[in-house]
Amino acid sequence: MGASETEVLLKQHLIDPEVCIRCNTCEETCPIDAITHDDRNYVVDPSICNGCNACVPPCPTGSIDHWRTVLKVAPYSVEEQLQWDELPVPVELAAHGSLPDTAETNQQNAAASHSLQAPHSALQPHLHLHDLKNPLTVTVAGNFRLTDADAESDIRHIVLDFGNQIFPLLEGQSVGVIPPGVDALGKPHYLRMYSVASARDGEREGHNNFALTVKRVVSDHDGKPVHGVGSNYLCDLQKGDKVQITGPYGASFLMPNHAGSNLIMICTGTGAAPMRGMTEYRRRLQAKGAGVGGKMMLFFGARSSGELPYFGPLLKLPADLIDVHLAFSRAEDQARAYVQDKLRDAGASVAQLLQSDTYVYICGLKGMETGVMDAFQALCDEAGLNWPECHEKMVSEGRFHVETY
Ligand SMILES: Cc1cc2nc3c(=O)[nH]c(=O)nc-3n(C[C@H](O)[C@H](O)[C@H](O)COP(=O)(O)OP(=O)(O)OC[C@H]3O[C@@H](n4cnc5c(N)ncnc54)[C@H](O)[C@@H]3O)c2cc1C
Repeated sequence: MGASETEVLLKQHLIDPEVCIRCNTCEETCPIDAITHDDRNYVVDPSICNGCNACVPPCPTGSIDHWRTVLKVAPYSVEEQLQWDELPVPVELAAHGSLPDTAETNQQNAAASHSLQAPHSALQPHLHLHDLKNPLTVTVAGNFRLTDADAESDIRHIVLDFGNQIFPLLEGQSVGVIPPGVDALGKPHYLRMYSVASARDGEREGHNNFALTVKRVVSDHDGKPVHGVGSNYLCDLQKGDKVQITGPYGASFLMPNHAGSNLIMICTGTGAAPMRGMTEYRRRLQAKGAGVGGKMMLFFGARSSGELPYFGPLLKLPADLIDVHLAFSRAEDQARAYVQDKLRDAGASVAQLLQSDTYVYICGLKGMETGVMDAFQALCDEAGLNWPECHEKMVSEGRFHVETY
């Protein structure tokens, strides 16, 4: 390709406003602050973006991975992108030549603190079978409150039935939910993501259904009262109601399928959803005498037992299936404990697992990551392990997965 072509053309990075769930991951990930947003859209500033692709793998929906070849002198401006309801149709610029795939060639350069690829033995997931233009309608089969009646948080187990429709899901994947109605600007609500809480063979084994674990959002992250659009819609659903979903999403936060693989699962609140799916899958295998032989450790944090989703069923899991460590930060007559404290308390066992065929999963509120990473560092120090090296190896081998929101 001649130098003149690269001078004329730009491979412009764009975000699909129809699929973006405004989770802010891209803006947080971008190393050069090229991504910005307003009340409605997330957009990439063409004057800053260098196509490094660091933001692409962490995006939960794939909405970030859109590119248009444009004239360098006339890219889509930030102001223009903020007005979009959908991506513009690609314009034919063949007369100006073609560009190399900058994004692809630079993908390897993206630094990652967690694995961008799935475990080597994970099943191949189905992805993006349904989108906003072609959602799947499912039926509510049940909606049960998981937290105590007097608990501060209302967390629900919502079972959705596919009927005779095909929508294959794996533990660790997410679905998009489209809340009905329009937002304050009169535009349709964007979709919200929810992790699948069931095993791959259904919430009820062998049935074509799955469950979500949804917390009703009644205050924002600063404690200010709000009415969360998606979570309140889901939590208020009645049996028989119809729900529009998209997806499946998620190609890396998946469980290994080979015998002998160990899982360390660390979660808070609704971060329990993928862990429940994985645990239930292995519980069913064990019950059939087809155990995979690996160990499972679960570190699960909540304010108190009444605020911890699936508390009762968790306590009934066989001890030879899973080693459960619960951390309560507001339980009466107990010192405050967080997941990172429990992780350190079990440091010797965790360090032992880290040295074998082990896969780590962290899911829950964004704020949990720092404490958990510090705990790994501390327990490795105590065991004489080099945590940065161990972490880097696990990340590169698809063995260290984080999903926080
Ligand atoms: C990959 C992924 C998986 C997810 N899985 C789950 C899941 O399994 N269960 C689940 O309940 N949620 C899950 N979420 C979060 C979910 O997508 C929504 O963000 C959440 O339900 C709030 O949406 P909302 O429409 O009710 O609130 P919005 O109407 O979008 O927001 C209202 C206000 O609440 C604030 N807010 C948003 N989320 C929270 C929160 N969790 N706590 C406090 N304040 C908040 C917003 O900043 C805003 O100010 C997941 C998110 C991602 C990205």
